[in-house]
Amino acid sequence: MKELFSEVEILSQAEHLAGQIRARMDGAVVIGVLKGSFVFLADLLRDLGCVGFVVEDLGFVRAKRYRGVSGGELRIGRLDVDVRDKVVLVIEDIVDRGETIRGVKEELKALGAVEVWVCALLLRHSVWDKGLVDFRGFRLTDDKFVVGYGLDLDGKYRELPFIATLEKEGLSDVQADGDCPRNREIPAESGGCAL
Ligand code: 5GP
Ligand code: MG
Repeated sequence: MKELFSEVEILSQAEHLAGQIRARMDGAVVIGVLKGSFVFLADLLRDLGCVGFVVEDLGFVRAKRYRGVSGGELRIGRLDVDVRDKVVLVIEDIVDRGETIRGVKEELKALGAVEVWVCALLLRHSVWDKGLVDFRGFRLTDDKFVVGYGLDLDGKYRELPFIATLEKEGLSDVQADGDCPRNREIPAESGGCAL
């Protein structure tokens, strides 16, 4: 395992993204794409709260791409909130080839959303400039599989507070080293929440 983005880097990127979002929008119905986005969504949502963005409602949608026999069919589950005539902000963990986010956007438009904005924490270099995502976090410079901070491999590693790449030989010993910044005091220079 190799740490790619530390918890501090991620939290500071989330704060930065919240500022960018707030500069363009006053509020929206926020939709998290399950399961991978739940950790990022929880952090980003509080940063949005700090900058006065109004969450009109919060919903989740399950999107899963079944590769293999069916050849990559995307299945999108039922959305649990009403988006008709609403401005929607979708929160995604990673945009790889872009199929998932395209599918989710189409679904939300079909359900009557008037505007669909997307914030993604990670984007593969191949989709960085494709205009699929309005608020972009980190650009991944290669195609290595990443885990942690909500992202899994077969259901594992979601609990890691940082994002790491998996090297094939290191699959068995992925572990936090006990030196995470969790529960530590936020340094004064990072600002904190003004509310
Ligand atoms: P896309 O449809 O953009 O090709 O794929 C996006 C979805 O594939 C993500 O929502 C995520 O579930 C999964 N995915 C793609 N790359 C990775 C990766 O490196 N790590 C993990 N954990 N999931 C990935
Ligand atoms: Mg995802």
